[in-house]
Amino acid sequence: MRIVLLGPPGAGKGTYASRLTMILGVPHISTGDMVREEIKAETELGKAIKGYSDKGELVPDKIITKLLAKRLGGPDSERGFILDGFPRTIKQAEALNRISRIDLVINLNVPDEVIIQRLSNRLVCRKCGVIYNKLTLKPKRDGVCDKCGGALYQREDDTPEVIQDRLDVYRKKTELLIDYYKEKNLLRNVRCDDLMIPPEVIIEKIMMIISSVQDTSRA
Ligand SMILES: [Zn+2]
Repeated sequence: MRIVLLGPPGAGKGTYASRLTMILGVPHISTGDMVREEIKAETELGKAIKGYSDKGELVPDKIITKLLAKRLGGPDSERGFILDGFPRTIKQAEALNRISRIDLVINLNVPDEVIIQRLSNRLVCRKCGVIYNKLTLKPKRDGVCDKCGGALYQREDDTPEVIQDRLDVYRKKTELLIDYYKEKNLLRNVRCDDLMIPPEVIIEKIMMIISSVQDTSRA
């Protein structure tokens, strides 16, 4: 199953993707991670990417598509994949079409209030970087990391105003992309209206969608 995962920053894409990876036995391919790995490995493409980001420019779609083509055509993607971070525009979706078939697009539908509530309660360990949440994932001792004893702090850009701005940018950018996949009949919405819903419940919803899509493609 070749799956694209869409959802605003803070919707929990990383959490769901890593669980789905285990259940389905397919890789989680994050274009953000891929780009960082390429820069670290200092490949030709990595050097080109670094050149753009050093100048504060966006990495051209062509380069990302090239990286992605290599990865999606690789042996670990044979049984499918969960793609995260790409596409973000219709142009990117069309480029993706040229390198791989897509069976399903899961759109994590999380209201702004829920994301703001989640992110503005986020705490990060100064020492090891582990993330906690004042509402859903409290440390055992207030302000202290369970793992390393480091001090927990709140990121400066985790304020409701900054998060709202990020969400507005995301919604404006992906609106057309969501319509694009809706028209192709690939889009399925998964709603999460409450911060306290455990990830297992959302995963169960996603798995039901996946099996229904598998049934129709077999029929
Ligand atoms: Zn820590």
